[in-house]
Amino acid sequence: MVKPSLRSRSYKRISKKTPGGRTVVHYERRKSTRMRCARCGHVLNGIPLKDVSRRGLPKVMKRPERMFGGTLCPRCLRNVLKEVVRSTG
Ligand SMILES: [Zn+2]
Repeated sequence: MVKPSLRSRSYKRISKKTPGGRTVVHYERRKSTRMRCARCGHVLNGIPLKDVSRRGLPKVMKRPERMFGGTLCPRCLRNVLKEVVRSTG
């Protein structure tokens, strides 16, 4: 059994073949990814690039301070709001 800190799923499990022919599991940190728009998939601006640099920041610096900030890009938000207004109005 590996040490408890490596049992976390924040580590990626990679199976490697050793020169002796055994297969062993190596644990690697996952790569940090850029946040993307939930609707169109474009990379969101105004958000720190790395997970590590995002961690210690206050909430107001982690995403734009508007509705659906950090979830939708401004173009998609505009389209969603137009659709809602047109369907209810
Ligand atoms: Zn979008």
